[in-house]
Amino acid sequence: MILDGKAVSAALKAEIAEKVKELPARFGRVPHLVVILVGEDPASQVYVRNKGRACEAVGFRSTTLVLPADTPEEALLAKIRELNADDAVDGILVQMPLPAQIDEKKVIRTISIEKDVDGFHPLNVAALWQRMPCAVPCTPKGIMKLLAAAGVDPKGKRAVVIGRSNIVGLPVAKLLLDANATVTLCHSRTVNLAEVTRQAEILVVATGRAKMITGNMVSEGAVVIDVGMNTDEQGKLCGDVDFATVAPKASFITPVPGGVGPMTIACLMENTLECFLRRLS
Ligand code: NAP
Repeated sequence: MILDGKAVSAALKAEIAEKVKELPARFGRVPHLVVILVGEDPASQVYVRNKGRACEAVGFRSTTLVLPADTPEEALLAKIRELNADDAVDGILVQMPLPAQIDEKKVIRTISIEKDVDGFHPLNVAALWQRMPCAVPCTPKGIMKLLAAAGVDPKGKRAVVIGRSNIVGLPVAKLLLDANATVTLCHSRTVNLAEVTRQAEILVVATGRAKMITGNMVSEGAVVIDVGMNTDEQGKLCGDVDFATVAPKASFITPVPGGVGPMTIACLMENTLECFLRRLS
């Protein structure tokens, strides 16, 4: 069965749009997301455009600030501080990656925790790991919603996550653990990866290595979540999972495109709404 991220994300966005309709009467305005893009990376331009479109679709106000690639770090940090202090801004997202002269960690730390719609601020991360209220990073949050939409309860299941990044692997492992799965986290130094992945009842792959998970690495009936966004030899978008050989064995599988990607954006909308409500309620 295909886990259709497009359909699940459309339903979530429709739900958010309904809630947004009531906000002007209660708060005098709608949520406002500011996205900052530094430079002209083509992939980042697409992501930023999609985020703007999603804001429009749910009825948010959105602003995109495009800064030149040679923007000094201090200029970006000053802009973020200005947005932190602006009461009419509810969410701030700085599109990564950033040019080499800018320290991403400093940027993440400078965004006010109240407006951190990505959930990347160290205090948000700490709250996540202590099971306290926080902004949950969008991609892991979207993955959990996809599992729920498929009726897959992680409780008691063996979940294997490949990849240990701050934005995907680590937080999704934590969310699966919180959902009572037994979680194994793999990475580039894992020995006998296939032996581990074959034990997975839920397999989440976030490596950035095109089609690296093949049918022989997956057990019959596994739920497979492919986070990867790569281009194959023909320049076509593809995931970290070799769909052709894995799909026949999986009970559920996310396609690329149309799986995790749309969920990430829908969850960004949800996080923006949550930041708005936490600040204004
Ligand atoms: P990342 O920061 O580059 O991390 C990749 C992780 O994969 C690392 O932990 C690395 O291990 C591990 N890894 C790499 N090669 C491996 C191998 N051969 N075997 C086992 N583990 C391996 O990547 P990321 O930011 O998490 O993103 C992962 C992928 O998801 C990318 O394709 C990215 O474009 C995509 N992505 C998609 C969305 C979406 O919305 N769909 C959102 C975010 C990311 P080490 O730690 O040992 O180096």
